[in-house]
Amino acid sequence: MKIDFTGKRILVTGAGKGIGYEIVRHLIQECNGEVVALSRTQTDLDALRAEYGCECIQVDLADVEATREKVGAAGRIDLLVNNAGIAILESFLETTTEAFDLTMAINVRAALIVSQVVARGMIERGEGAAIVNVSSQSSMRALSDHTAYCASKGALDQLTRVMALELGKYRIRVNSVNPTIVMTPMGKRAWADPAKSGPMKARIPLGRFVDPHHVSQTVAYLLSEHAGMINGVLLPIDGGFLAT
Ligand code: NAP
Repeated sequence: MKIDFTGKRILVTGAGKGIGYEIVRHLIQECNGEVVALSRTQTDLDALRAEYGCECIQVDLADVEATREKVGAAGRIDLLVNNAGIAILESFLETTTEAFDLTMAINVRAALIVSQVVARGMIERGEGAAIVNVSSQSSMRALSDHTAYCASKGALDQLTRVMALELGKYRIRVNSVNPTIVMTPMGKRAWADPAKSGPMKARIPLGRFVDPHHVSQTVAYLLSEHAGMINGVLLPIDGGFLAT
């Protein structure tokens, strides 16, 4: 399936590492898109610019005003990937309000405010558009020590559905991808210990974790016209984990 985003400007958040980095590479190298990469650490953005020549936005998505201002200043955005996320591992009884609030701010609120800014431009241009939110299998299954994370991804899934409902009339499609574990810097922090990762892998019918390119391929598909009637879907990329 050939996906061609020639002439499309695509904003990817959380682009500096892991899944976001691979989404940027995929959209530029395999789909010919023009990417605007948003992330927090300047050196990561410098590396992206050096490697792929993409436009970059440095901002901490916890800062609502700075985020609105910098995303607004980026100008026309045709397609959006809300990928940035954090995972702070705490058991339910030990979950702090600080960790909970920060997780909700990055994993849910940032997707809301970035999408609001970008969707207003998409509606004005009236050309139709697509947004993909990067959620997780943890929106639908409980994982130990992931209280705030699971809650935030459950909220992100419902944000996706409401966006799909309200933006559909403008021909803006909104979907999520919900991967199982990916061994990115985030994935390694939680799952590097074989005593933890072994039992999790055993629950996946395909018997392996996801590679970043499985996510980037699915994101590109959902952004593309090949998915032209897919709207409001929460798509697992999980080797069958959620089927069990
Ligand atoms: P990662 O390796 O930790 O990379 C996350 C990226 O997001 C980093 O570049 C990070 O920048 C950026 N980011 C985080 N907080 C930010 C903030 N406040 N402002 C701006 N940028 C920020 O994570 P990942 O594994 O690639 O995860 C990407 C997405 O996939 C997340 O939404 C995650 O929940 C989801 N996901 C991951 C897995 C997994 O197993 N890895 C599974 C399912 C879903 P800094 O490093 O500079 O903070």
